[in-house]
Amino acid sequence: MFRICSFFLFVFTLAGGAPSGPADWIWSARYVITEDAQRRVIENGAVAIRGDRIVGVGGKAEIDKRFEAKQRLDRPDAILAPGLINTHTHAAMSLFRGIADDVRLQDWLEKYIFPAEAKNVSPEFVRWGARLGCLEMLLGGTTTFTDMYYFEDVVAEVAKEAGMRGVLGETIIGFPVADAKTPADALQFTERYLTRFRNDPLVVPAVAPHALYTNSDATLKAARALANKYNAPLIIHLAETKKERDDALSQRHMTPTKVLDTLGVFAGRTVAAHCVWVNEADMAILKARGVGVAHCPSSNMKLASGVAPVVRMLALGINVGLGPDGPAGSNNDFNMFEEMDLAAKLAKVTALDPQVLPATTALEMATIRGARVLGMEKEIGSLETGKRADLIMVRLDRPNAVPLYGAISQMVYALKADDVRDVMVNGKPVVRDAKILTLDEKAILAKAQEYRARVSASLK
Ligand SMILES: [Zn+2]
Repeated sequence: MFRICSFFLFVFTLAGGAPSGPADWIWSARYVITEDAQRRVIENGAVAIRGDRIVGVGGKAEIDKRFEAKQRLDRPDAILAPGLINTHTHAAMSLFRGIADDVRLQDWLEKYIFPAEAKNVSPEFVRWGARLGCLEMLLGGTTTFTDMYYFEDVVAEVAKEAGMRGVLGETIIGFPVADAKTPADALQFTERYLTRFRNDPLVVPAVAPHALYTNSDATLKAARALANKYNAPLIIHLAETKKERDDALSQRHMTPTKVLDTLGVFAGRTVAAHCVWVNEADMAILKARGVGVAHCPSSNMKLASGVAPVVRMLALGINVGLGPDGPAGSNNDFNMFEEMDLAAKLAKVTALDPQVLPATTALEMATIRGARVLGMEKEIGSLETGKRADLIMVRLDRPNAVPLYGAISQMVYALKADDVRDVMVNGKPVVRDAKILTLDEKAILAKAQEYRARVSASLK
């Protein structure tokens, strides 16, 4: 009884009732960027972690007083920040990295990607591609990825193996593909997948109809119904190109956004990637339906798709996050630091106004706003007591990191994915000293070369 009482007192009396007591980890750094409601940046700060949750955030001295940690990581020359959230990508396409550059989206899809996929995509291809993608993402500070591909059950297995968080959507598309001969097959595959990964601590299974222009109305409606049956998010490409917008207007006299809304596709949690060709009425729909937007500046620039009106979306209160999109020609990497930097700069040059999208907003898009896009803002996106412990440590001892006048400016405009030193996801360290702890890096890089030879041969 005495022991229980003293433990109780220890837990609740220190620091005016704030949680205290034992912790599994304390991570401390020169600056802690919290992305909490006050957007605090704490100099000489620390975060305490117990199990998979953050139990304390504050000054290092205060956290050290409140918590007794089993293990600690002190980096007096680093920034500690929330793990970055990628809201749109195709991890397994890493094995097609650079297969066709400098072509239009439609040509890229129809002449290169769809044929290469038809000849190569298998569960093993997806497994090694997803491993390569997760490896690059984790080493670059991404702790959550939003994915859309075939054999997404394999991507989910890889995410768990890597110790990475994912919102992972099984693709549904209107022509025969590696894991489904018909959309009906794809819907069945997706239902089995949703059942298998329900309530997983790291994976949120999702339904991912590829786009309006690659699916029938009936399939789109069925995809929404299936997502709602399992309370799963729906992921879709939307209004990516002018052609997609023009085709919808000429064939149906509605914008793609209006068509999807009319079909009821937004009647539930939705993440829409790109949203480049949206007008005021479309943005009003996205706002009214609570659709989260994944802005992909690198991809939109590389494929010359256009400039998404993200400044206007943000002003309207639409949730906008960032995504690198696919590595196979539409980007070609998974670098969230680059997406932050480009999101800010693309908005500025488009508006001829350097103030329209400041560094603070760009970092929010990669963290807490990204969490809102996924409907996960209560769990991830900031360093706050009670949230999942997804953290990154970014080094400040390289030429591109000094001197430092503002931690957030440095994160967005100066630091690189390569500067990430340590990563924790769900309370577990997965990168230490820029080395992956969960995956076999050597084997993954060797396999990538092997697949390069196979893919090239298949296209001859
Ligand atoms: Zn995409």
